[in-house]
Amino acid sequence: MDRHHHHALLRGAGMTSQRTRDRLIQRLMDEGIQNSQVLEVMRHTPRHMFIDEALANRAYDDTALPIGHNQSISQPYIVARMTETLLAAGPLDKVLEIGTGSGYQTAVLAQLVERVFSVERIQSLQDRAKKRLQLLGIRNAVFRWGDGWEGWPALASYNGILVTAAAAEVPAALLDQLALGGRMVIPVGIGSLQQLMLITRESSGFSQQCLGGVRFVPLLNGSVIL
Ligand code: SAH
Repeated sequence: MDRHHHHALLRGAGMTSQRTRDRLIQRLMDEGIQNSQVLEVMRHTPRHMFIDEALANRAYDDTALPIGHNQSISQPYIVARMTETLLAAGPLDKVLEIGTGSGYQTAVLAQLVERVFSVERIQSLQDRAKKRLQLLGIRNAVFRWGDGWEGWPALASYNGILVTAAAAEVPAALLDQLALGGRMVIPVGIGSLQQLMLITRESSGFSQQCLGGVRFVPLLNGSVIL
């Protein structure tokens, strides 16, 4: 294949083009995402780097995609919504993320808060996520291979906690590790009956707010080498 032809092909694929990403951002705005910082970070974060090459042409569709091990990279709208909700009360310095997966949500978060602490139970997914963030020059995210039900107690407390897998109930350890005034965004429920919840810790206790129906993979038990 000559050089000219090769370039034309890359352009034709369009998967990395700014226009394709701009279209996604417009769609997120149409769907009600308002935080301009979140939108700008997502406009410039290369989601195609977080998925298999075979699926790269769908990287900027507003849809979840498989990342192996029966897991998926979250839908961009959900990433935007969760991030916007987490940040709605002001800037956050320490954020705990449960369910690193591809690392896409981690990368978005890391560009908007001081530090991200991300826990994943499947080691190979976490390794790949780590490499992607390194490639992007993102240095304020650290990773722990372990069971998210336990959080990351050694480094608690956190001003924000974001959980990207659905739990039948809110893990007690995560409530413990939420700082006073902190916010947790977490899908709660089983199967197709899940609600995205915002939980805030106040001096008098926890308050919760329901943000609507969602569909996440389940928060499983234990950590595994896969
Ligand atoms: N934010 C990720 C979503 C990945 S899907 C992304 O957009 O790519 C949810 C992830 O949670 C999966 O990688 C799954 O392995 C992980 N997970 C499930 N149960 C877990 C647990 N108990 N502890 C840590 N991670 C868990």
